[in-house]
Amino acid sequence: MIETSQVQLAIVSPDKEFYVPETGQSLHGKDVIKQMTINRVWHNDKQGRFAMVQYAGQCFKFREGEAKTVPESIGSRLRANSAICVGTDKLNGPIVPFLEIVKRTEMSESVSTKTPTTCPICGEDQLSFPKLTRHLAQERKKHPELFQEEKTEWEADEKPSKGTATDGDVD
Ligand SMILES: [Zn+2]
Repeated sequence: MIETSQVQLAIVSPDKEFYVPETGQSLHGKDVIKQMTINRVWHNDKQGRFAMVQYAGQCFKFREGEAKTVPESIGSRLRANSAICVGTDKLNGPIVPFLEIVKRTEMSESVSTKTPTTCPICGEDQLSFPKLTRHLAQERKKHPELFQEEKTEWEADEKPSKGTATDGDVD
């Protein structure tokens, strides 16, 4: 299936306010970011700290102030997987995803104009198949996680059926 909508995910901005119905108070993005530090969500590399969110066995890196564009179905799973319990009350504390959707791009209107040479990642028409192939190679470098096939479990499901229909009936 070709994804028709994409979202931009980013680490919650420090100023963002969340209303917590349980306490009747609100908390802010900076509280969530602080909790990320407490929970050791941050990792470090040469470019600085980043948060890692897993989905379907893939790790997605998120840096502060940087938005990542992913197909909407992946985006909503990543967002759900980024939920952390904020505060000291581990049982009742509010659970807030540290990723937020900063932009949603609905592609439904442009579906009719979509050509076979349109890039499924960014939605731009590459006009010819050789160009699309080259373009996809670049997309692959930029978003290797989007190109890895999800592990299917179908092999595990194909267990040999136990016995045959006659087994129990034979006298
Ligand atoms: Zn593209």
